[in-house]
Amino acid sequence: MLRVENIHVYYGESYVLQGVSLHVQKGEIVCLLGRNGAGKTTTMRSIVGYNPPARGKIFLEDRLISGRPVYENVRLGIGYVPEDRRIFASLTVKENLEVAQLPPREGYIAWTPERILDEFPLLARLKDRRGGELSGGEQQVLAIARALAGNPRFLLLDEPCEGLAPVIVEMLGDIITALSKEITILVAEQNARFALKISSRGYVIDKGRVCYEGSSEELVSNEDIQCRYLAV
Ligand code: ATP
Repeated sequence: MLRVENIHVYYGESYVLQGVSLHVQKGEIVCLLGRNGAGKTTTMRSIVGYNPPARGKIFLEDRLISGRPVYENVRLGIGYVPEDRRIFASLTVKENLEVAQLPPREGYIAWTPERILDEFPLLARLKDRRGGELSGGEQQVLAIARALAGNPRFLLLDEPCEGLAPVIVEMLGDIITALSKEITILVAEQNARFALKISSRGYVIDKGRVCYEGSSEELVSNEDIQCRYLAV
């Protein structure tokens, strides 16, 4: 579904991604792990189109998407939930969903605002509340739901658990697992324990390079990787 081939990304003079490659098959949840500043967010932003690679290529179902503007990639089916969520604070929950709506995608069940409120009772209860008045956990659920309103086939979740209480993290895990029956997912996390529980495979990134890849079982049982790069 998604193929990232040897991408190199700079911020000005700063050489941040130094040849990152990864792939995600249809229906998988794959995680991208690594410490603060390792390059997870930059990888996600490159896939969406905010930080196009200076070298290397990104494909979504064999279509070259690197170098295209963000709005085109979103139309092609990339959904992105940024680390800081970017909820529209002055809009209600329902309005947040309505503004993000894109036409349904052939071969996928449509995510209309009505279906989203049906599937997320938490949001249905809060539908007239303004985004800025929600708790961190509620905002995270809304951020995911708003990405769904764009009817993505591939979803990027950047640190969905950050700053959330364990009970909310558990609920998010259930939500993400349920979504993977319809949508392919790449999740970036510092919380390796959470990410490895919900994903089948993972990549570990360090100083802008993938230093390890393997099944979630392999990553959980590899003490060297855990200590050196994940520090669970
Ligand atoms: P975090 O969990 O903190 O988001 P990360 O793994 O997502 O970490 P990135 O945010 O991708 O890491 O950052 C990778 C490197 O790029 C870091 O060294 C960071 O300081 C640098 N960096 C990130 N954004 C910029 C920017 N806009 N300009 C310059 N350097 C940046």
